[in-house]
Amino acid sequence: MVKLTFYGGVREIGGNKILLEDGGRKLFLDFGYPYSRYRIFYEEYLKPRAGAGLLDLLVMGLLPHLEGIYRTDLETGNLWQQFRRAEHYRKLEDVDGVLLTHAHLDHSGHISFLREDMPVYSTATTAFIAKAIQDSGKADFDQQVCYFTPRVEECLKGWKQGAYVASNSGDHQRRFCVADESTLSEEARRFWGEVIRQRKLASQPLDHIGKCSFSLRCFPVDHSIPGACAWGIETSSGWVVYSGDLRLHGKRGKLTEAFMKKAAQLHPRALILEGTNVNRATNIAEQEVYKNAFKAISSARGLVIADFPARDVDRLLTFLQIARDTQRKLAILPKDAYLLKTMRLLEPEIPDIAQESAIVIYQETTASKSPAQWLKRIYEEYASKVVLAKDVASNQDSFILCFSFWDLNELPSIQPRAGSLYVFSSSEPHNEEQEMDFWRLHNWLKRFDMRGFGLPVQRDGEWEIPEEQRGLHASGHACGPDLLRVAREIQPEVLIPIHSENPEFYVDNLRGSRIKVALPTEGGAVEI
Ligand SMILES: [Zn+2]
Repeated sequence: MVKLTFYGGVREIGGNKILLEDGGRKLFLDFGYPYSRYRIFYEEYLKPRAGAGLLDLLVMGLLPHLEGIYRTDLETGNLWQQFRRAEHYRKLEDVDGVLLTHAHLDHSGHISFLREDMPVYSTATTAFIAKAIQDSGKADFDQQVCYFTPRVEECLKGWKQGAYVASNSGDHQRRFCVADESTLSEEARRFWGEVIRQRKLASQPLDHIGKCSFSLRCFPVDHSIPGACAWGIETSSGWVVYSGDLRLHGKRGKLTEAFMKKAAQLHPRALILEGTNVNRATNIAEQEVYKNAFKAISSARGLVIADFPARDVDRLLTFLQIARDTQRKLAILPKDAYLLKTMRLLEPEIPDIAQESAIVIYQETTASKSPAQWLKRIYEEYASKVVLAKDVASNQDSFILCFSFWDLNELPSIQPRAGSLYVFSSSEPHNEEQEMDFWRLHNWLKRFDMRGFGLPVQRDGEWEIPEEQRGLHASGHACGPDLLRVAREIQPEVLIPIHSENPEFYVDNLRGSRIKVALPTEGGAVEI
């Protein structure tokens, strides 16, 4: 009997944490950051306390009550005693590892808390993007996926209790085992092992999957971040297939098609399938995004700002093509440059910034005396590519600036000309906080007399993109009919929906077929 326990991703989008058990063998399928659950209790200025180790996360239900899987340096006091009587508490040992599907934090973030010796299985691209995100981001203690800062208890002078503070011993890198066959270049190996923060890094060379007690298959799929994959796990009840996040309508939709064929050949016992966009009937393809955005930008006067999701490299390349086709330069932020540079270590078809005449790098205003190592390197390596706010300000017709809402505070240095264009190529607001941000975004545009295009506006309390401005965003997730095609073609005996607010969609639409749908419950198990 194989048991699947769902600790996250049940009736919520993201936060997938699935435990697969087969006799004594155990694996996790993703170990994601549960954004929607954080939002119930926390916000930007109210966060779990890093100094309290695992306590806040366990008490507030953000981490499953599983003793034995977490980093021991975060076990404050007699932490586990209070949870041993709790519902769903279990002591778990000898987990083989985590099968990570892609580098979006809602699938990877909580790997930060797992024991250092628990390997993470992924594609090489996912491992590299996880490092690039952490190198170039803030990476709070609950988002240190690729390497982490061990904590030690220290009683500060004058304090009556100890605190768990960052140790001086440097960072520890996790053991990533990659599923890809290809060998890494010398430069790629150097990137993986190098110190990029101000701290030392005890690095772990990238390994290959070998020691896992399960037989595994890794299937590349298309999603809004490169390197995404689905997994097949051979168990004593037959193959279990886990989709991660996927789509059929993106630039690499063929990968997902190939996955469907190969997964079907396994005649899987179970398919764990995402259902983010089950309620959507159709999708916009990336090619349509190009056409619609090109139309808007080719007739624009003044500055163009393109707002698209972070780490969506396909979208960045769509806007790069538009920049070439409209004789503008695509001004990207240093963190995007770092990501492109990282990806090129594995995928030579990614453009080389140094050689690509349509790309420049926008230098943000800094107040820091000691900027991060990765940032200094980007500015040094691409010195001839760096543009400043004043360059953009004095030549506004020549740029497409890749900014999101979080970069708007640069605008006072640029002062876009009246009538400049803000192209919104991302998803609509999903919660009240995001609605507030859209309200602010509209205020910024008013302040500089800019035109929004593809931007949701509020009508009768609902945020909607005006009819004639739609088609500027290709979602990372398949629509309802495509998801049903995935299910029917793979034809598992049991389908388990995950990462969905409406899992009943599969029950309603697969009734009468040979596929049985099993709805998981929070912390509950499905036996197959
Ligand atoms: Zn995702």
